[in-house]
Amino acid sequence: MKKVILTGDRPTGRLHLGHYVGSLRQRIELQNSGEYDEIYIMIADAQALTDNMENPEKVRQNIVEVALDYLSCGLDPEKSTIHIQSQIPELFELTAYYMNLVTVSRLQRNPTVKAEIQLRNFEASIPVGFLAYPISQAADITAFKATTVPVGEDQQPMLEQTREIVRKFNSIYGETLIEPETLLPDNKACLRLPGIDGKAKMSKSLGNCIYLSDSEEEVRKKVMSMFTDPNHLRVSDPGQVEGNPVFIYLDAFCRDEQFERYLPEYKNLDEMKAHYRRGGLGDVKVKKFLNAVLQEELEPIRKKRREFEKDIPYVYEILRKGTEKAREVAASTLADVKRAMKINYFEDAELINEHIRKFSK
Ligand code: ATP
Ligand code: MG
Repeated sequence: MKKVILTGDRPTGRLHLGHYVGSLRQRIELQNSGEYDEIYIMIADAQALTDNMENPEKVRQNIVEVALDYLSCGLDPEKSTIHIQSQIPELFELTAYYMNLVTVSRLQRNPTVKAEIQLRNFEASIPVGFLAYPISQAADITAFKATTVPVGEDQQPMLEQTREIVRKFNSIYGETLIEPETLLPDNKACLRLPGIDGKAKMSKSLGNCIYLSDSEEEVRKKVMSMFTDPNHLRVSDPGQVEGNPVFIYLDAFCRDEQFERYLPEYKNLDEMKAHYRRGGLGDVKVKKFLNAVLQEELEPIRKKRREFEKDIPYVYEILRKGTEKAREVAASTLADVKRAMKINYFEDAELINEHIRKFSK
């Protein structure tokens, strides 16, 4: 069986460190590993509209921002097909058929949807499209016959829903769709990176992000303002490492050799954490180290972004070509689905002949 990746992001803002560690960094490793036959990267603008219907301009402006973030992180259009969801109508046709396989109460039980409904104050009136977006996500994944979906932890319930739809479809209409697997980052700190405010998730909607395209100065300011252990008041106080975002970011980003260069008094992060726990290590010193670590990771990305920003027509050309290619694949899956459901009337000579016989009697 072919190994196929599908994943993507909502163009609701520029991409941030959460996207990077939760999905983007791994995507690039997978792309460069050469182990996958096909890689599809979706800019999910139609999904973004399900909770931004009144603000299409936001979505419209951020498509190119997300594309620039992709390219500057190393997604290579020769190896990964970057495409725009709304330009592939076949995805919406698939969604319509899958809708009949899912109940409203099942959607309402989806824990990610539940949390997002609360966050957006949709409790009293949920847009139908928003409640149903896990179904459209199942269409996105199955349209490309994806076997692997590299995402952050918050997407697990979506993948479960997709697998249910696949099983149900195949059991009714015969083996047609592929059941995908989630690929989570193996570093625990990357599953759900907290915000700089200490909130559980760095998220565009919460305004607690360090963006991949933030300037050196913006990153430095954000790091120095980060929430840490509120009980660690004096340098001599013992501090808590668990749940402390500064240390979670270090878990996600720093490498042992960086201690040699920036803080030779520690061999590795464990030694630094031990010092923080016993007291005597100030937040400012930890934050300065984190800043150095992050700048090292982000500087090459910023540099590449500036290059791509000089050639926006090229970026749009990548999107156009990627979308064309993706559309062909989605159309072929849709044809399989319609054949399986036997709603491909004009291709169905058997049906037509049967009716000829029936009505000629
Ligand atoms: P929005 O607030 O508009 O939903 P978002 O910041 O949650 O935006 P998405 O586009 O919904 O971003 O998510 C894209 C991908 O990034 C998903 O795979 C998701 O799991 C991952 N991701 C997003 N935020 C984080 C995070 N803080 N930690 C780890 N992974 C994340
Ligand atoms: Mg999200």
